[in-house]
Amino acid sequence: MSKPSFIQEHVPLAPFSTFKIGGPARYFFKAERVEELIAALAWAHKRKIQLFILGGGSNILIHDEGFKGLVIKIDFNEVRLEDEVLEVGAGVPVIPLARKLTKDGWRGLEWAGGLPGSFGGALRGNAGAYRYEIGEQTVSVTVLHKGKVEELSPELCAFVYRTSIFKTKRAGDIIIKMSLRLKKGDAREAWAQLQCWLDHRHSHQPDTPSAGCVFKNYLIEKEKEFDRIDIIKPVPQEYHEYKKIPAAWLVEQSGLKGLRVGEAEVSRKHASFITNTAEARAADVWELMRQIKQQVYNTFKVMLEEEVQLVGFESAPPVVR
Ligand SMILES: Cc1cc2nc3c(=O)[nH]c(=O)nc-3n(C[C@H](O)[C@H](O)[C@H](O)COP(=O)(O)OP(=O)(O)OC[C@H]3O[C@@H](n4cnc5c(N)ncnc54)[C@H](O)[C@@H]3O)c2cc1C
Repeated sequence: MSKPSFIQEHVPLAPFSTFKIGGPARYFFKAERVEELIAALAWAHKRKIQLFILGGGSNILIHDEGFKGLVIKIDFNEVRLEDEVLEVGAGVPVIPLARKLTKDGWRGLEWAGGLPGSFGGALRGNAGAYRYEIGEQTVSVTVLHKGKVEELSPELCAFVYRTSIFKTKRAGDIIIKMSLRLKKGDAREAWAQLQCWLDHRHSHQPDTPSAGCVFKNYLIEKEKEFDRIDIIKPVPQEYHEYKKIPAAWLVEQSGLKGLRVGEAEVSRKHASFITNTAEARAADVWELMRQIKQQVYNTFKVMLEEEVQLVGFESAPPVVR
């Protein structure tokens, strides 16, 4: 089976990542049609070529050596709004559509007016902000599962904090499109809400290249865990209410804001962000992540978990002991 003509070779990946870091893809193609996607998958499967599904590249760290397999950039771009249900292709960038719909008085995506990346990437990681999550609005999801197109209910997607079935049991599925519930409302009110959250983002997040929060917030299952951490550093009351401690707080309280490795730096504005201050390498970011995990563990005996997805790394970052 020869390589489909639409598959390119040696394509630089850094421009496809908001971090602006990483080497090239050995093979690369933009999937705009399901038939092409199926053909590319069949070719890769036959040659035992590893796959990586790329959305908007806003939650990934690509290895300096790049990715030796096939990167499939999801580019399904249809958008349809009918009876308060938005049907949206997985490749559609979130920010422009969320802003346009909000401006037109559609309510439900105000929280996403500053969320980088694509709808597919957002759905897989159950992205959220300001106490909203994309999973809560999901009506149905269309995926490519073992070569067949399937439609899934939100219950089947098992959305929980920053995860879904597409990170676990169905990690091999490719999200093609989804339907989201919106509501018609007052356009001025909707836009004011979006602007308010956008202003909050601008004042709390860095504008240098990053991949958003590198670590997940720490979920607290037992109140006793709060008591234990409280003795080390007093935990703000609001975290008790949400039953989680922001990774940014743990990093900041461990004294790590501004810590640097090469040109990668723990943001001084938001301690769960690592920023690429100039030409950071993935190796710098990886090492910084390792140091953060180690220090937070030393301070709080809490093991932070990565939120960012590693691409082209043969193994996970070293385990802290
Ligand atoms: C400045 C900044 C602010 C951010 N703020 C937030 C925030 O407030 N809340 C939040 O939750 N996140 C935030 N993020 C992180 C990021 O924007 C989200 O996680 C986003 O939803 C990722 O989508 P993406 O399309 O960029 O995914 P990518 O980074 O391209 O991919 C992430 C993962 O999803 C997989 N994937 C992507 N598309 C598909 C698909 N169609 N089918 C199957 N798998 C797929 C990839 O294989 C990869 O494993 C922020 C990031 C930045 C840079």
